[in-house]
Amino acid sequence: MAKNRSRLSIIPLGGVGEIGKNMTLYWYGNDMIIVDAGLKFPDEDMLGIDIVIPDITFLVENRDKIRGIFLTHGHEDHIGGLPYVLREINVPVYSTRLTLGLVEHKLREHGLNDSAKLVAIDGNSNIQIGDFTISAFYVNHSIPDTVGFAIETPEGVVIHTGDFKFDQTPVDGRQADVHKLAAWGAKGVLALVGDSTNAERPGYTPSELSVGAKIDEIIAQAPGRVIMSTFASNIHRLQLMIRAAEKYGRRVAVVGRSMVNNIQTSLQLGYLEAMPETLIDADDVNKMDPSKLVILSTGSQGEPMSALTRMARAAHRKIEIVPGDTVVLASSPIPGNEKYVARTIDQLFRAGANVIYRGVHASGHGSQEELKWMLQLVRPKYFLPVHGEFRMQRTHADLAIQLGVDPDHIFITELGDVVEFEDGRARLGGKVPAGTVMIDGLGVGDVGNIVLRDRKLLSQDGILVVVVTLSKATGHILSGPDIISRGFVYVRESEALLDEANKLVETTLAKLVSDNVSEWSSLKTAVRDALGRYLFEQTRRRPMILPIIMEA
Ligand SMILES: [Zn+2]
Ligand SMILES: [Zn+2]
Repeated sequence: MAKNRSRLSIIPLGGVGEIGKNMTLYWYGNDMIIVDAGLKFPDEDMLGIDIVIPDITFLVENRDKIRGIFLTHGHEDHIGGLPYVLREINVPVYSTRLTLGLVEHKLREHGLNDSAKLVAIDGNSNIQIGDFTISAFYVNHSIPDTVGFAIETPEGVVIHTGDFKFDQTPVDGRQADVHKLAAWGAKGVLALVGDSTNAERPGYTPSELSVGAKIDEIIAQAPGRVIMSTFASNIHRLQLMIRAAEKYGRRVAVVGRSMVNNIQTSLQLGYLEAMPETLIDADDVNKMDPSKLVILSTGSQGEPMSALTRMARAAHRKIEIVPGDTVVLASSPIPGNEKYVARTIDQLFRAGANVIYRGVHASGHGSQEELKWMLQLVRPKYFLPVHGEFRMQRTHADLAIQLGVDPDHIFITELGDVVEFEDGRARLGGKVPAGTVMIDGLGVGDVGNIVLRDRKLLSQDGILVVVVTLSKATGHILSGPDIISRGFVYVRESEALLDEANKLVETTLAKLVSDNVSEWSSLKTAVRDALGRYLFEQTRRRPMILPIIMEA
């Protein structure tokens, strides 16, 4: 691709065709900026993988052009990949104060807080970088201090919404900057890059205020302790819980590391308010009158090691669920987590609690009518639906067409697609390297498809190791074969099977020796084939077979 170009490219490196690991590259001339650097949690078939981040090969190749990373808000799918990006490309990071507060915490865990350059911005900032001018605008979302970006370029302005909804009665009182959006729309917007998460959902997303009313009602009526669980980052909802607790004269204890951290950061930065006496130490919970207590806890997704799940199993160090408790799951399960959530609800009921797990939630993403509003305010010439799986992008595109956007002006992109704007016209301009990097422990990208395939095989039918020592001189067996198995059969009850397997290895090797075959690879393949066939006949299982042949 040409080096110094007078055109604008928008390149999604994450967050299209998927939910998670959001990252978009904007490129004009010699300057590149990145919006968001998220992570994604692994699919079920990515055995042993901790997290997934975008492939940043293209960024590393162009590191001399990258001027900065702009973060829309503090959710993991927007900031979780940042440490891995900064390790390769140390450029300034721009975002709002709360987002940077959460980022700082994350960078400290990765030992990067000294080297990173964090620049706080707000809804009035205009950052000039090369040919770009970037200004933030506030939107409503399920974490405070969320912004979108208006990115001015010589080709025109691009509105990047980030995650958003329009909440007319937000908990923190800060409405979305609809006037700014409308002003951009009146001036003329080249392209809108828009959140598609709830594109399939008709109507409007309810205000967080409706969740507040429900929380108030629950606390007012609960006879004993109230244990409330939500996403640790949903500061608005935690604020509603703290407010309601204070209203009914209850104290509040917080359990779960991520929730303790987020609440501390938000209190320090002024994004959360509590009266000085409201928050008490979790150690004092059992000294309190149950009717005077609210406990805020992590675990609304049924995560097996979370505070709530451990309390439900009576495995928490300080708090145990007892009859008379009211437990509220103020969230909805993320797709894939349903069975964990269901299991936790069962355990909570079994422990004697009254469990409320429906109707105490509102999404942080706008539904169809709000997406239409955004399109209407911005009136873009071109439209890129992002932040969603393919069908969500597709449905979002249909909404735009309904509102009069030219179907030829809509780009439903895949990872690495380059959408180029030149002289006011857009086209798809090829692809750059993009995809998925899996992280397992300290290894970044060292686990590939072959390792995953092996893990899958091992997890299905186990492994069999065959150890045999052959004579260097004659090729005859000196010791073994010894068969060691794990995860295949219960050895004590399968002696006959393993004896037969042993004999089979012996006869297979003997036959090869008499045929003068001595290359190890042939010997190993023959043992693996013969044994595999026999074991499948006997058990209908296909364990991984690992022959180890030694010479003496
Ligand atoms: Zn978000
Ligand atoms: Zn998101």
